[in-house]
Amino acid sequence: MRASQFLISTLKEAPADAEVASHKLMTRAGMIKKLGAGIYTYMPMGLRVIRKVEAIVREEMDRAGAVECTMPVVQPAELWQETGRFASMGPELLRIQDRHERDFVVQPTSEEVVTDIARQELRSYKQLPKNLYQVQTKFRDERRPRFGLMRGREFIMKDAYSFDRDVAAAKRSYEGMAKAYRRIFDRFGLRYRAVAADSGAIGGDLSEEFQVIAATGEDAIVYCPDSDYAANMEKAEALAPKGPRPAATQAMRKVPTPGKSTCADVAALLGVPLATTVKSLVLATDKLDAQGAVAGTQLWLLLLRGDHDMNEIKVGKVPGLAAGFRFATVPEIASHFGTQPGYLGPIALKEKVKIVADREVALMADWICGANEADYHLTGVNWGRDLPEPDLVADLRNVVEGDPSPDGKGRLAIERGIEVGHIFYLGTKYSKPMNATFLDEDGKPKLFEMGCYGIGITRLPAAAIEQNHDERGIVWPDAIAPFTVVLCPIGMDRSADVKAAAEKLHDELAAAGIDVMLDDRGERPGAMFADWELIGVPHRVVLSDRGLKEGQVEYQHRRDAAPTKLAADSVAAFLK
Ligand code: ATP
Ligand code: MG
Ligand code: MG
Ligand code: MG
Repeated sequence: MRASQFLISTLKEAPADAEVASHKLMTRAGMIKKLGAGIYTYMPMGLRVIRKVEAIVREEMDRAGAVECTMPVVQPAELWQETGRFASMGPELLRIQDRHERDFVVQPTSEEVVTDIARQELRSYKQLPKNLYQVQTKFRDERRPRFGLMRGREFIMKDAYSFDRDVAAAKRSYEGMAKAYRRIFDRFGLRYRAVAADSGAIGGDLSEEFQVIAATGEDAIVYCPDSDYAANMEKAEALAPKGPRPAATQAMRKVPTPGKSTCADVAALLGVPLATTVKSLVLATDKLDAQGAVAGTQLWLLLLRGDHDMNEIKVGKVPGLAAGFRFATVPEIASHFGTQPGYLGPIALKEKVKIVADREVALMADWICGANEADYHLTGVNWGRDLPEPDLVADLRNVVEGDPSPDGKGRLAIERGIEVGHIFYLGTKYSKPMNATFLDEDGKPKLFEMGCYGIGITRLPAAAIEQNHDERGIVWPDAIAPFTVVLCPIGMDRSADVKAAAEKLHDELAAAGIDVMLDDRGERPGAMFADWELIGVPHRVVLSDRGLKEGQVEYQHRRDAAPTKLAADSVAAFLK
């Protein structure tokens, strides 16, 4: 491929609404272009990455015995009424009407359609097992589309559905997919964890999420470094004992505390124990200006000033703040407000600021905090009588770092992840309401045992970038890079030798099946290098008159600090 022919549209500035690296960099690198909230064009550079992701997924799905089909994006409501999801699904499901005022949905997944196919086409046990998959556009009217492709409204998902005779066979299908998923995610070259997930109403243990490890991930995952235990937070919480919420034992009192600033000081002064440890705290402010957040933050910083061991803060519903500080550290949030960690300012424990901590027991009763007035503190403060925003309740933790692992093999650690895949044993959840049956060996109709298996095709590149970028741009793993190698000729317009060598190398690499880009735009070296570093092509070869005189080119991996010399005729062999 030649750059002059391709569409390269790099930008200096990231869009104002871009909060995370992947959104900023994919936009700046000209990979995606926003059309509306959560709706993006996959530009040629971005589409190349998506196609590589799809190719790996297809190869491994085919290898695992799944067969591809393509189901409609727009689906008649009747099928969705059979399962009840047309009514029950809520606003995430996009419902539309045609000219005859008939109801349709835009698929968020395709259980209904695929089950309808199965009940018509799979009539005998002899046709089982079957696994049908598609790589298709999905639409979910997400409440908070954000982070570019990470949480879009329109996105591409690979969704697969297995059909089996009985539970044992369905479990084998599930295990087959679990194995295929590991192969797939190994091939992407990313750090990920497969974690147990809650299989919802169905129960049982057959649901796993594949989480790419990244600090910006929206999910918390719990694992034991000394064993195989790994679960998402919901699952971990479901297993964890929930302590009762303690009642307040004291009335709130305002006490003079001259010259004392920290909670520990005050506790010592009053002779009360300071026993509570809070590791993470959610501030949910109703007030949409910075005021509420400042108040909350001051309160929080004040807490930190005490002997409380907190290392994570989340702020909800504060524009511009929720963004940068959802998972911020203390020094970060302090510097955002132009203050120091440990700053003792007036605190406003207004009703507008709701506070939720990682452990209910840690939070609710008998706290000391500043009184919003110099030299006074409040004791017996009880927080959390108000329930937080529903989406923040999900962040409530009864499981914290250092808790014993349920398998008894060590202590728990917590990290953030991006859910890029999810596999699920469904049982007869869909076959039953849709009366999807086959004839079993005994001649009697039986409900299909089903499983479903998703991969966020367009979320994956975003997750890859969260894990692989630096201040200059993206660093793609080879497996999903838009181009494997870029040839950067210096002075191609002036030097016939450089031009000839670049063309020759391009053709040679292309013939060897290497995904090569020749930058023939005639850009100055600085601008040319900056573009390709931003785009993140992993291998770069620079051709210049000087080097070519000695039969050499300069090779540099995107992660290398400096180039190394390479014989011009050995590049293909080197890259293979
Ligand atoms: P999330 O918890 O992030 O909302 P989900 O659990 O609702 O995701 P699933 O129904 O399990 O998603 O869908 C399968 C996969 O589709 C997810 O693992 C994820 O990779 C991808 N996916 C889901 N929602 C989105 C979205 N809004 N944008 C991009 N990819 C998505
Ligand atoms: Mg979702
Ligand atoms: Mg999820
Ligand atoms: Mg999921």
